[in-house]
Amino acid sequence: MRGPYRKRLVQKPPQFKNFKPSGIPRKMLKKIELTLDEYEAIRLADYLKLEHLESSEKMNISRPTFTRLIDRARQKVASAIIDGMELIIEGGNVDLENTFFKCRDCGDIQETPVTQQNENCPDCGSENIDDLSQNFINKKDNLN
Ligand SMILES: [Zn+2]
Repeated sequence: MRGPYRKRLVQKPPQFKNFKPSGIPRKMLKKIELTLDEYEAIRLADYLKLEHLESSEKMNISRPTFTRLIDRARQKVASAIIDGMELIIEGGNVDLENTFFKCRDCGDIQETPVTQQNENCPDCGSENIDDLSQNFINKKDNLN
């Protein structure tokens, strides 16, 4: 019997949401969705080169679950590259620990805990700032 489905911890959202082959109109491309937990698996195992066990602990999931997750994530990224699809990072049953705030005036990007409310750019003082986590989260299934 399987336990209750636990949310996967993700340290921070990606800074970019869409990747596509250049020179081809978006409407002609197939799309493939990489969820935030799949993205985090690639970040931990392939970018930071952590072992699967350590990665699984960071995400609060079992090692076998992590191994299935990273396999699926790699398959999707490979398909996007080989078949020339638009890769969209979005969704997943996750809890984000940190987010990025991006200033629309000066372009400054700050990483902060999701619990912290930012109202001004620390660099230029502008109130014109975006919480990048909102680009990736489906509000219906995420973020407490
Ligand atoms: Zn600014």
